[in-house]
Amino acid sequence: EDELVRAVDRVMTHADAVRRLEVRANADTPEDAARARRFGALGVGLCRTEHMFLGERRRLVEDLILAPGGKERQVALDALEPLQTADFAGIFGAMRGLPVTIRLIDPPLHEFLPDLTDLAVRVAVAGERAGDRDRRLLVAVRRLHEQNPMLGLRGVRLGLAIPGLFAMQVRAIAAAARQVEGARAEIMIPLVGAVQELEIVREEATGILAEAGVEAAIGTMIEVPRAALTAGQIAGAADFFSFGTNDLTQMTWGFSRDDVESAFFGRYLDLGVFGVSPFESIDRDGVGRLMRIAAEEGRRARPGLKLGICGEHGGDPDSVHFCHEIGLDYVSCSPFRVPVARLEAGRAALARTGSDSR
Ligand code: PEP
Ligand code: MG
Repeated sequence: EDELVRAVDRVMTHADAVRRLEVRANADTPEDAARARRFGALGVGLCRTEHMFLGERRRLVEDLILAPGGKERQVALDALEPLQTADFAGIFGAMRGLPVTIRLIDPPLHEFLPDLTDLAVRVAVAGERAGDRDRRLLVAVRRLHEQNPMLGLRGVRLGLAIPGLFAMQVRAIAAAARQVEGARAEIMIPLVGAVQELEIVREEATGILAEAGVEAAIGTMIEVPRAALTAGQIAGAADFFSFGTNDLTQMTWGFSRDDVESAFFGRYLDLGVFGVSPFESIDRDGVGRLMRIAAEEGRRARPGLKLGICGEHGGDPDSVHFCHEIGLDYVSCSPFRVPVARLEAGRAALARTGSDSR
């Protein structure tokens, strides 16, 4: 068995020596980050921050939603900021010396709000005795209800709609970066579809970072087809692009990513009409074409623009080869897929051309 371990080690060392793609991992907690490091990830390519707002902190998020004015909103944000600072410091600590891309909050709103039916039942059952908070919450949740939350007020849209939310996160990132020696923060904006959205966030974030004396790259996810098609403009406000192929696949095909594993809609993809599911392996003709356009136009507008991928495809062998072909700088995938990504990145670099490499 030892011999096997040594053989695998030799192969991995060889792959690392020849690969051109850097391999990072997606990690949301210090534990995930530590695991990613053990599997050989050279950074965190995606730290999703929305999960950090669930659990006990949900009440603060509800306060944020219920806040009638700027002052109340700020009270809720001020309560969240030190908690976020501790979250980020933990991850910077685990990845010391390696880059950590923190994505500003991207929640589908329905995952945050109390369930409308539960809440309505609770208020109805309590009748006259129902608390004021529950009543106000019910009104707010009804008002915020969306038919398609995944296509609704998510990502940068939410960040612009709730003033102070992104700023709170950027302040927390800056504070954590100052606390942890060797922290290398990168800030990533989700669901951008137009350069104007990015410019507003970038200006605010740049000011906060300058005031804190912290340096951090500010980049964007490319996950809305319009962002890929206007990549030349978007590159003007981005230090890096990271392809979010989960959403890019959903929006390019018009397939609901939340339903593709269900018995009903999922069965359609299982019919095999398209061969492999586009959620499994990058669809080169459609999603892949958008990625090529974005990579080329982004780099034409900003030579040296850093390009990565952080959708699930980042750990899929065929997709890793594709990412190599179109000249990405890194792939980021779940920690357990990091070794496979390292290996495939090495194989892609050794292949004469990407297409005959498998
Ligand atoms: C993506 O859309 O590919 C992505 C990485 O973001 P999320 O899965 O969190 O939407
Ligand atoms: Mg996404």
